[in-house]
Amino acid sequence: MYDLIIISAGPAGFGASIYASRYKIKHLVIGKEFGGQIVKTSRIENWPGFESISGPELIGKFSDQAKKLGAEIIQDEVKKIFKQDNLFSVETAGGVEYQTKNIILALGMKPRKLNVPGEDEFVGKGVSYCAICDAMFFRGKDVAVVGGGDSAAKAAIHLGEFASKVNIFYPEGKLIMEPALQEKIKENEKIDLCKCQGVVRLEGDSKVTGIVCKFKDENKKIPVSGVFVEIGSVPGVEIAKQIGAEMDSEGYIIVKSDQNTNISGIYAAGDATTGSNKLRQLITSVSEGAIAASSVYQKNKLGN
Ligand SMILES: Cc1cc2nc3c(=O)[nH]c(=O)nc-3n(C[C@H](O)[C@H](O)[C@H](O)COP(=O)(O)OP(=O)(O)OC[C@H]3O[C@@H](n4cnc5c(N)ncnc54)[C@H](O)[C@@H]3O)c2cc1C
Repeated sequence: MYDLIIISAGPAGFGASIYASRYKIKHLVIGKEFGGQIVKTSRIENWPGFESISGPELIGKFSDQAKKLGAEIIQDEVKKIFKQDNLFSVETAGGVEYQTKNIILALGMKPRKLNVPGEDEFVGKGVSYCAICDAMFFRGKDVAVVGGGDSAAKAAIHLGEFASKVNIFYPEGKLIMEPALQEKIKENEKIDLCKCQGVVRLEGDSKVTGIVCKFKDENKKIPVSGVFVEIGSVPGVEIAKQIGAEMDSEGYIIVKSDQNTNISGIYAAGDATTGSNKLRQLITSVSEGAIAASSVYQKNKLGN
């Protein structure tokens, strides 16, 4: 039995764990993917104390510190939460069930999908949502990036260091990259911007062999070995919905100033919440995690 289970292995989760350890709250951290979104970036320049640091390095430091303070961390996906009297049961994909008095949901964001035929079939076989993680597998190959925003631009620039050719497919009227990034793309001979009406499907056999896009009235297949989808993200809140947490109209978990949700004993922190005036950054995610842990401490102290 735990006093607290933190569902996340991202910045908000580690922030919560570090504070929970300092409050001597017996807790378990369960995270599906180590590090969360920040592992996708090679350069962070707004985390105080470091002029520049990569996402994987910074999150490695968060995790080391949490472990040194005594955190028990396991890698697994939480599939379901049940409430039984005043306790919660947390069921994982690995088939284990844990009991706890309190939960902090720091579920973060997940990539928005294209929702076209071939996408799900080829995830990990050419389809990727993380250029930083997967670019090196496409050394000397032609790849496509789908998206018209800054994350698509950054992904393409990073991919340009490995791939032989990078085509960015963006929907007409949706090129919203900041001008400095557009400049960098123009200067890079390996990267081309291609306006289209949309992605129709992804093709392949055992791996991706091409992307089919709509141009004016015809669909055209462009041979590529990799497709990087960079069209934004959505809150990954399925298990919060399932237990009945209240959401706003965009699907973010509604939290009060103490990070409590509408369910007593369930707190939420980080990008997936309505907190911090919706400034979804490292600094606010870690802070929300800390506030949530502090609220659990206050609740336990008062014996509520
Ligand atoms: C490319 C990129 C660059 C960025 N650069 C910066 C930057 O320079 N500076 C900055 O301040 N911010 C930056 N951000 C934003 C920053 O990454 C986020 O604000 C921060 O990661 C949010 O942390 P989080 O813990 O709320 O969520 P996330 O980082 O999304 O972590 C969520 C965690 O919850 C886990 N999880 C989700 N569902 C389950 C489940 N059912 N069971 C178990 N575990 C689960 C996930 O696996 C993950 O470990 C960047 C984001 C991106 C995508």
